[in-house]
Amino acid sequence: MTSVRLALVLFVVAWLFDVLGLQAVPLWLAFVVALGLELEFFLAARQSRPAATPDRAPQDVDRDELGYGDEADELLLVREAGVEIWVPYSGESDEELDELIQRERGREPVGIVGRARGRPVARLATGVALIAALAAVAWFVDSRSGWNGVDDRARVAAEARFSEEASRIVGRPVEIRCDDAGEHVGAVQHADGVAEVGGTLAYLSPERCYALYRLAFGGHVNGSQTARAIAVLAHESWHLRGVGNEGRTECFALQSGVRLGERLGLSDETARRMMRQQLVENSLRGASSEEYRVPPGCREGGELDIDDGSTRFP
Ligand SMILES: [Zn+2]
Repeated sequence: MTSVRLALVLFVVAWLFDVLGLQAVPLWLAFVVALGLELEFFLAARQSRPAATPDRAPQDVDRDELGYGDEADELLLVREAGVEIWVPYSGESDEELDELIQRERGREPVGIVGRARGRPVARLATGVALIAALAAVAWFVDSRSGWNGVDDRARVAAEARFSEEASRIVGRPVEIRCDDAGEHVGAVQHADGVAEVGGTLAYLSPERCYALYRLAFGGHVNGSQTARAIAVLAHESWHLRGVGNEGRTECFALQSGVRLGERLGLSDETARRMMRQQLVENSLRGASSEEYRVPPGCREGGELDIDDGSTRFP
């Protein structure tokens, strides 16, 4: 359990600093998994504690521990508010038995059962408290970092810039908004952006907006994050332009992405390399995202090559 908790702490720290592009993984998922593991350990610990055996009589070791030796013929098991009390019994009357029970109550509750019962609960409580504390820290840091940490004026300027770039691809004025509230796009919908085909408004996820913002306003490049963000902005632009098919849209987007990347501050070489990388990743996608896979005509000289003059693709 300790290693699981340590792994969660490390994951949250790595997530907050976006090491290895971990922010692509929704953080709540880690908390759900951790909570699930805590519960599993808790239930396993409860089940593996000494279970009620058919023979409820105490073992010799219990007798020795209790100090009864052989003086009593029998030991009676009395349950009192979850605590088990063994009472020596040698044919006493009911009144005498009550007296014995009263006396035994004064003793410390004995047996592994009583002690083992408390520990899994305490461990579960510790685990849940740790998860809650980590979630609070993560929420606090996250609300002040990434796209959330960009001030309002800079956000407005960034959205204006993204809209300008999208309008260039579409060929008419369109608007790009960053979905701060996560109402339109986000991890739950498995979407980086949404756009109405042939419409005028598209939303990008805060992660994509932040990567584009850092590139356009700070010249910051973060490998595949930056590449993906460029591809997503171009992708939604092509939807706005009127292309509905996801594979064709992605094919056009990766071609437009080269010029888009350059305008946002990349060199021609870097922008081209990034879009080629995106095209390779696209072909490696599994069957679950089949509809996003580019069609066979998405190649140099193919029917989806929109730049006939060039011999480079994308
Ligand atoms: Zn799409």
